[in-house]
Amino acid sequence: MTYCNFQSQDEGRHLRKQARLEAVAAQMRLAVEAAPNGMVMIDERGTITMVNAQLERMFGYDRREMLGQPIELLLPERYRGAHPGQRTAFFHSPEARAMGHGRDLFARRKDGTEFPVEVGLNPADTPDGRYVLAAVIDITARKRMEAELARVHSDLREHARTLEATVAERTAHLQQTIAELETVSYSLSHDLRGPLRTIQGFSQIVLADAGDRLRPEEKELLAKSINAAHRLDRLIQDVLAYTKVSRQNVVLTTVPLEALVRQIIDERPEFQPPRAELVIESPLAPVRGHEASLTQVITNLLDNAVKFVPPGRLPRIRIRTEPEGTMVRLWFEDNGIGIAPEAQDRLFAIFQRVHDEKTYPGTGIGLAIVRKAVERMGGSVRVESQPGQGSRFCVRLPRAEVS
Ligand code: ADP
Repeated sequence: MTYCNFQSQDEGRHLRKQARLEAVAAQMRLAVEAAPNGMVMIDERGTITMVNAQLERMFGYDRREMLGQPIELLLPERYRGAHPGQRTAFFHSPEARAMGHGRDLFARRKDGTEFPVEVGLNPADTPDGRYVLAAVIDITARKRMEAELARVHSDLREHARTLEATVAERTAHLQQTIAELETVSYSLSHDLRGPLRTIQGFSQIVLADAGDRLRPEEKELLAKSINAAHRLDRLIQDVLAYTKVSRQNVVLTTVPLEALVRQIIDERPEFQPPRAELVIESPLAPVRGHEASLTQVITNLLDNAVKFVPPGRLPRIRIRTEPEGTMVRLWFEDNGIGIAPEAQDRLFAIFQRVHDEKTYPGTGIGLAIVRKAVERMGGSVRVESQPGQGSRFCVRLPRAEVS
């Protein structure tokens, strides 16, 4: 009796388990049926034992036409011969994996058309034997997008190549034009100076020799001509200096800045007392530069610093250096008339002037030379200033390696 009870308890447990398993299986079937991927299950002989609705839609077969058929029904004919062998190999050493190993896979619809697919294989061992559940994704849209993307990339690369070639061609053309223009401007400026000196020289002779016999208005006209010729000569010299800075070969060496600055000051009375007070904050750091270009830069900045002061004021200029990483900042600080902030950037372009020509004569080329020369030495230049409060010009140059 007790025994019977045991048996019926066991049986009950078994039945409940069975019912639970069947409920799970039913849920699984529902999930497979509703899956967004095509699902197909085959047995060890490659016979289709189950398909879902998505697979029917994908291949155009009714499920009754597929069940019981070999899986090769869904393959393009050219792959059908090799497939049973590959299938058997998989059944012998199954593992969940993607099919194809980097090959492009294709499937075949009922109407004979083909489409690219991705297939994931999942082995499932059951009491009835081994099955494989395959998930099939139609990747037509993705392939089309990949192809489109590849085409766009290749178009872009081609476009970039053409663009680069065009830029290189135009740059070469521009460089050639600039070189030609510089040559023309150089020889033109050079050739202009000869006749100009003749005009200047003869006018001066006439003024000196015949000055007594001339009327005051005639003398004044002559003096004005000499003056104009002088200004023109100054302009030509500055243009020549500008073209020279652009054309000359710049080889950087270590320049002992302090010695160079002192030498420039020694050679020019307008940089010395009683006409000006220049203070060097010793020592000035040595820099890597081109000595001739640097001489031009320092001279131009000092010329401006002593020139742009209010009438009657003694120009005072402080020269100092400070380190800035691999660069050196060379400062020129003056007590001059200063520069309005909005004008500061354009001053470094050629022919730009802010102050009136009568009080402060000039050609507007000095700072353009400074910038070109400094940039050719791998540096930069800027100004800090306020009207009436003096100006600070800062030249940045590579620091000289100290051995
Ligand atoms: P130039 O001195 O021949 O006029 P630059 O190119 O050297 O030409 O300078 C351009 C302009 O910048 C000057 O006309 C002047 O207005 C302004 N400038 C340059 N240096 C100074 C300075 N140290 N203080 C005030 N203004 C300056």
